Amino acid sequence: MSKWKDFLKHFDSKEIKVETLKQEAEKGFSEYGVYPRSINEVGNAIVMMARGDEEKCLLVIGEDSRLEDLEGTIIEQDGIKIKVCPLSNENCDVIRAIFPYTNPQSHKGKKITIGLGDRLGLASPGHIETVRDLDVFPVLAQQSIRELNLTGRTYEDVISSAAWAVFQEGYTKGYGADGDHLKTAEEVKMSLDVGMTMITLDCSEHIDNAAADADIADLKEKYQSFPAAEREKWEEKYSNKSFKVGEFNFNISEDDLVRMACVYGGAIHHSVDIYHNLIAKCDRSIDFEMSIDETLTSTSPASHYFVAAELIDADVEITSLAPRFCGEFQKGIDYIGDLEQFTEEFSIHCAIAEHFGYKISVHSGSDKFKVFPVVGEKTHGNYHLKTAGTNWLEAVRVIAKHDPDLYRRMHAFALEHLDEARKYYHIGAKEENIPALNDLKDEQLSELMDMDDSRQVMHITYGLLLQAEDENGKSLFRDEFYDVMYEYEAEYAETLKKHIGRHLTTLGL
Ligand SMILES: [Zn+2]
Repeated sequence: MSKWKDFLKHFDSKEIKVETLKQEAEKGFSEYGVYPRSINEVGNAIVMMARGDEEKCLLVIGEDSRLEDLEGTIIEQDGIKIKVCPLSNENCDVIRAIFPYTNPQSHKGKKITIGLGDRLGLASPGHIETVRDLDVFPVLAQQSIRELNLTGRTYEDVISSAAWAVFQEGYTKGYGADGDHLKTAEEVKMSLDVGMTMITLDCSEHIDNAAADADIADLKEKYQSFPAAEREKWEEKYSNKSFKVGEFNFNISEDDLVRMACVYGGAIHHSVDIYHNLIAKCDRSIDFEMSIDETLTSTSPASHYFVAAELIDADVEITSLAPRFCGEFQKGIDYIGDLEQFTEEFSIHCAIAEHFGYKISVHSGSDKFKVFPVVGEKTHGNYHLKTAGTNWLEAVRVIAKHDPDLYRRMHAFALEHLDEARKYYHIGAKEENIPALNDLKDEQLSELMDMDDSRQVMHITYGLLLQAEDENGKSLFRDEFYDVMYEYEAEYAETLKKHIGRHLTTLGL
């Protein structure tokens, strides 16, 4: 029997006070499994979230017309009628209509914003706990199309997971939803239609990487393919000019302009199109992020300036821009590169962002502890940082600790399918550096999540692991994985608080 049924004894008095219910739920959480902060009044009805035997549910006691559309089963217990509703996307829509704070919103004007992403749809309660008392705006929902494909989720699912978590935790300070690394107009449109509040436009397919070090004579020919009027304007604005941004100076020569135009011209056109055709026309306020980070070489200050100036002149409202920084930002491990050079270049990028009035966005930000102090300082506490989905790794840590057998099977599968995963994600991990599973005792398994190589292997194989099925179509790991995570929900939240908390303290928060 679901434990929450015992909680109903608090409903037998005539006058039920929400505050009293909250106190009882909090005191007796392990006894009842009712989330205290989710208890709310809707007219004469009370709604609350609770842990059922196998999954969470929304409970409705009493009636209100706004709750009529909730789908669920009505049961009677101790003379009380209760509607037990699944946490479906449809039911989430009903809750979102009643409680505005459960809807994602734009973060314009907020100084520190952090993209937390949640591949499993289980991490947001822990993420909320981490930022609750800080001046940090969390973008709880943040997934790329690649992540959606690899996890078999939709943006509706992603927003719902975040919204339910926000409701469960009674978090009223607002959160965002980022359609991350979107490439096409179709993807942007779909994301806006389902309610994403931030669009990160990945311009990589419109950036000509080869032009970065092509022969200038060849580039001059390509440059002629841009309309004459546009070339004239560019030449007037940039050719043989020096620029002063904050305390930094740089020059753009005639050849520099030709090269920058060839590399970034297409990306600028693409962004301006997407912005004016879709984002500016959206009836909500949308945070637009221009991402030029998926290039082969790092973004020079002049290129950054050129791209930004062109967008601003075309009336594009940029909330954040993600340049490609020097060094390597590999998934799930610390920064690899020259920290001094990073600091120097990062400072210039920050000055340019400040000059134009948007913020710098740092991608693949999980575990980049070496650069965090620089990010906190040089941005003057005005930045967007995207974590790289390492909440998945923290979930794997919980699995390794509590279901060693499942972990061992997942680990073996991940190694077997590593080449497949490497097609989507670039990592430096070497298999030979990973200790053999048979040499490890069960209690040592979770330590694998502290070693770079095994960490990266598990990090990039999430999609294959979650989607793996046997010949009968039964999931190999997914169902078991979710069952264990359900049992250890509180521990997962604690683990995340520690993991993301370390990010925030290193950033200077
Ligand atoms: Zn990125």
